[in-house]
Amino acid sequence: MRLQNKVTLITGAASGIGKSSALLFAQEGAFVIVNDLDAVKGEETVAEIQASGGKALFLQADVTNPDSVKAMVESAIAQCGRIDVLFNNAGISGVGALHELEPEQWDRVMSVNIRGVFLPSKYVIPHMMAQRSGSIINMSSCIAEIGLARRASYAATKGAVLALTKSMQVDYASYQIRVNALLPGTILTPFVENYLKTSYDDPEAAIASLKSRQLGNELGTPEDVAQAAVFLASDESKFMMGSPLYIDGGVVF
Ligand code: NAD
Repeated sequence: MRLQNKVTLITGAASGIGKSSALLFAQEGAFVIVNDLDAVKGEETVAEIQASGGKALFLQADVTNPDSVKAMVESAIAQCGRIDVLFNNAGISGVGALHELEPEQWDRVMSVNIRGVFLPSKYVIPHMMAQRSGSIINMSSCIAEIGLARRASYAATKGAVLALTKSMQVDYASYQIRVNALLPGTILTPFVENYLKTSYDDPEAAIASLKSRQLGNELGTPEDVAQAAVFLASDESKFMMGSPLYIDGGVVF
């Protein structure tokens, strides 16, 4: 077990990559704090973990809301005593070329994808500083590096997360806190499936086109990313600091 008794907070853990990570972290021995906006799916994730002998609890919070995030972190500390790993995973997509976007649409993607990394980090880091240990994993995307048609706001947020990761690492290295970023390629999750269903007349053709962008001609699974997250959370990656980790089937070189 690579994460025995590590208290891990995963945002957006009721679906997709966050949910797969919650299940795998628990298998690896972590106590998982499942955060999401969606309480029904969040509690389902906790029930699945507990049914297979793992340890977890659900804390609902909106990662864009300071009061909500502060209360979540206080509750986590009150119940678990510490937070060893923070996985800033929650995120939303934003579809449209820049000139097509309304300012409110732009602001919403910025809020969830960047403020949603800032706030949980802001409230968790003082506890990690006091512990003089911690691993923070920030969810970026390979789109931060290569762009993608009609994803201007999303790409901008994921680039910002990468820059933020580097800067956080510089600030907290002396507290033995590591901060790394995940850069997945296209991973088949509800996030991508919903986009394909609502944006294309022929979602299967769209999937084939996405696959053709990957060297391996396959899309990733949430488990592929969860495995990388476990690695970044664990001491196996102790020499990785401020690093981008690609899990993209060969999209970025
Ligand atoms: P998903 O939609 O399946 O899951 C995201 C979860 O985040 C949902 O459960 C949702 O309720 C939650 N969430 C959204 N807003 C929230 C908020 N304000 N507060 C708390 N929770 C909130 O998505 P996914 O595909 O698993 O994506 C997870 C992360 O991975 C995102 O940051 C996404 O940008 C990133 N990512 C995904 C892919 C991909 O291809 N799926 C690729 C690269 C990066």
